[in-house]
Amino acid sequence: MKMATADVRVSRGNIESARRLIETAKKYKERYSELGAKRMGDLSRGQKPTKLAIMPAHGINEFQVDATKEYKPGQIFTVTCAESISFEEDSVAKGSVFYAIEHLKIRDIEVHGPGKPPASSGRALQKEFPVWSEIAAMDSECGWGLKLGTAGSTAKATSHYYYYEAGRSTGEGWLVDERYQHGGDTTGLGNALLMSQSRISSSSVGHFATEALVIECADSRIIGRQVFEGHDIALVSNAGNVLSPIALDAIEAAVKEGVPAIVIMGHSNCGAVGAAIAKNTEAPLAEIMLAVQTNIAGWENNVQTLVEVRNAFASVEMLQGIRRPEVYPGRVGEVANLISQRGTAVVPLYLDLSSGEIGGGI
Ligand SMILES: [Zn+2]
Repeated sequence: MKMATADVRVSRGNIESARRLIETAKKYKERYSELGAKRMGDLSRGQKPTKLAIMPAHGINEFQVDATKEYKPGQIFTVTCAESISFEEDSVAKGSVFYAIEHLKIRDIEVHGPGKPPASSGRALQKEFPVWSEIAAMDSECGWGLKLGTAGSTAKATSHYYYYEAGRSTGEGWLVDERYQHGGDTTGLGNALLMSQSRISSSSVGHFATEALVIECADSRIIGRQVFEGHDIALVSNAGNVLSPIALDAIEAAVKEGVPAIVIMGHSNCGAVGAAIAKNTEAPLAEIMLAVQTNIAGWENNVQTLVEVRNAFASVEMLQGIRRPEVYPGRVGEVANLISQRGTAVVPLYLDLSSGEIGGGI
């Protein structure tokens, strides 16, 4: 893949750093092939994740390093929310959660957030995790029967809460403070990510990563941490790997911090792109559909692989300031200016789930 990069100035150091990342990503197929041909074939046809993880964008990435080691592609659908663990401001995140529950029928949900667990009451938890109230509201609207966030109820969905506390002004960063589980089925805990006692290393609040911020699809088959194994990266996940409000906030913070590369990683058999081509009209998915549809405008009749590549490229071009943004134009413009000032590398990559092969680069 070659980009029209003539008027995009990226600093030499940033390009070199990005190339090291790309080199690692291109080796992913070797590890991916350890999954075996049948499982790879299954993964390339569709996803059947059993768990939804909602994680904040900020400061928790060090934790994710430990947690995602245990994942296998296809198990956990991951959605990034703002630090306050609300998706009120981000309909892309909200739509991604909707997709996980309504389309993928996931009933095992975990929420990760900062702070200490409140007293064991549903109301306190809802206050602590606004996202939970929002899911509960969607639940009653959509009739999922999740029965979330009510103390003492027999939850049909399992719900795990993970709290973290910042090392206050010590610069030591986020620590996994305590694991708190509320209501419902506890059997999921055995499979839960074993992070409760692990310490999150050396990051200060606000630290993203030193090598890259990766915008990836929430799709459970995409695990950016494994693609870039050994590199210090931060991740934002949403359905369709689009420039959502949270993604834009994260990119801005990362670029300000001097992160050398922003990676937009598309993939094959993407449900969000497929839904955009099919002109899905479900209200909770509207903002995701709008973002993807404007990205792929004029390309819809190509084979889906090309459309998926186009979807990732469009975001790259907007961040490079060479394509006019139609969704969140003000924010995209601000972030693109910052990227141009800092000479940050913006890299499109594409993961083929039938082989683990990664295309793209700079
Ligand atoms: Zn996808």
